[in-house]
Amino acid sequence: MNGRRGHIVSQREEPAPGVLYVVGTPIGHLGDLSPRASAVLANVSAIACEDTRHSGQLLTSLGAQGQRFSFHQHNTQTRLPQLLQLLQAGKSLALISDAGLPGISDPGEQLVAASRAAGLEVICIPGPCAATTALVSSGLPSGRFCFEGFLPTKNKDRKQRLETVANEIRTTVIYEAPHRLVQLLRELAELCGHERPIQVARELTKRHEQQVGPTIAIALQHFLEHKPVGECTLVLGGAPAPVAEEHSNDHWRAELQALIDAGSSASDAARQLAQQSGQSRRTLYALLHQSSKDQCD
Ligand code: SAM
Repeated sequence: MNGRRGHIVSQREEPAPGVLYVVGTPIGHLGDLSPRASAVLANVSAIACEDTRHSGQLLTSLGAQGQRFSFHQHNTQTRLPQLLQLLQAGKSLALISDAGLPGISDPGEQLVAASRAAGLEVICIPGPCAATTALVSSGLPSGRFCFEGFLPTKNKDRKQRLETVANEIRTTVIYEAPHRLVQLLRELAELCGHERPIQVARELTKRHEQQVGPTIAIALQHFLEHKPVGECTLVLGGAPAPVAEEHSNDHWRAELQALIDAGSSASDAARQLAQQSGQSRRTLYALLHQSSKDQCD
């Protein structure tokens, strides 16, 4: 707004020199590339792509003339200084990934952080993102949600993360490769119960877009019968909020002390126990305070 209600400020000319543009690109449907994204990609001085070959067709179709650089997890450290130098020299730079929003389970985060740390301007040109697209089409509560991206594949880390996900009361969005989907649904069924709501979004924005749910049991059965192919995003309903358990203050103090003995800080212990038990965090924290005061008296 330019101060007069209802008037939109005239947009600054884009791309502007020395600015990093984080540009969302389609996750399937090419019509989802915004006119603003097209214009910036066509006119920036340089483009950092997760894979220059993958993005080549899109960029060529837009008539993008900017110099193309690959930017991915294997060359981050060598590329970062080069890309920062370009920006500092007053070039405009666009960052794109193979699909969707850079920085969301895709390279980008470090370039954005380094640019900000160097005092450079970063502007996101928003676009498609599988996580939010799956979430809002799932029908599951979206007022508060968690994004887990890809879960760890190693046994211990995976088990711990799965347990956290299973106990989470907010809706959780998870990315998974199709060849691991059935395994993940089995693990979720075991930890969350077969009837926990879930919606598996497959091939969003593409011709064979599909939603499979509404429970883990039904999704698992479906993908046992139809081998998963294409890209999948899971939207898992939250765990039921714990019902507050009735116990004496001494019981809660002992539980808190056990968490503290295991390495948690007092406030973390109160938070963890509140999450598990349904008790109020404040009350638990106050109990701790009370017990340490009692000991001092
Ligand atoms: N940055 C991307 C974004 O914002 O959407 C996500 C990149 S991540 C490497 C790729 C994962 O996103 C896939 O394994 C899948 O879980 C999810 N995904 C990407 N495109 C999808 C689609 N069209 N339908 C469903 N899930 C998709």
